[in-house]
Amino acid sequence: MSQLPGILKGLKITFRTMIKTLFPDGLLKPIPKPSEGALTVQYPHVKEAPPARARGVIALHEGNCTACMLCARECPDWCIYIEGHKELAPPRREGGKPRQVNALDRFDIDYSLCMFCGICVEVCPFDALFWTPEYEFSELKLADLLHDKERLGEWMETVPDFEEYEDGSEQKVRKVPR
Ligand code: SF4
Ligand code: SF4
Repeated sequence: MSQLPGILKGLKITFRTMIKTLFPDGLLKPIPKPSEGALTVQYPHVKEAPPARARGVIALHEGNCTACMLCARECPDWCIYIEGHKELAPPRREGGKPRQVNALDRFDIDYSLCMFCGICVEVCPFDALFWTPEYEFSELKLADLLHDKERLGEWMETVPDFEEYEDGSEQKVRKVPR
């Protein structure tokens, strides 16, 4: 019975929270208003704004992606699918040779497998992947959670700018390509 005080304490907190939720105006005006007292919101009629750096979904800036495959290789869930081909790009300087570059044909992330670890965003050496707080990408079928580069590209608009670091930091603030 050594757990009894702990159980009673837990029940007291639960009861107090229930009363606060049901009667937000206090027990002197005992009119139940659970929708006002609740800490939850009536989604999708009411939407909360997530913190700016919330991990909602991953966006792709296609122009920065070189199809190097690093993110796909490091992804622990193997849920990034990349296909590309080589093509010739104009030389950097006049009179130079045309450059061989990788062009991206496919960049899909299967969000039914992704565990939002963020490794792909961290390892990308070319600043092509970004977190966005966007969270409305649910689908009725699991198979529809495979999102392609066009959809990942649309989410770039919802990527917030990086904030300044604390005073004294020598770290350069990253820029979000727009
Ligand atoms: S967040 Fe993690 S699991 Fe999801 S795609 Fe990136 S590396 Fe893979
Ligand atoms: S997103 Fe980054 S790591 Fe992934 S293939 Fe493109 S450039 Fe490479």
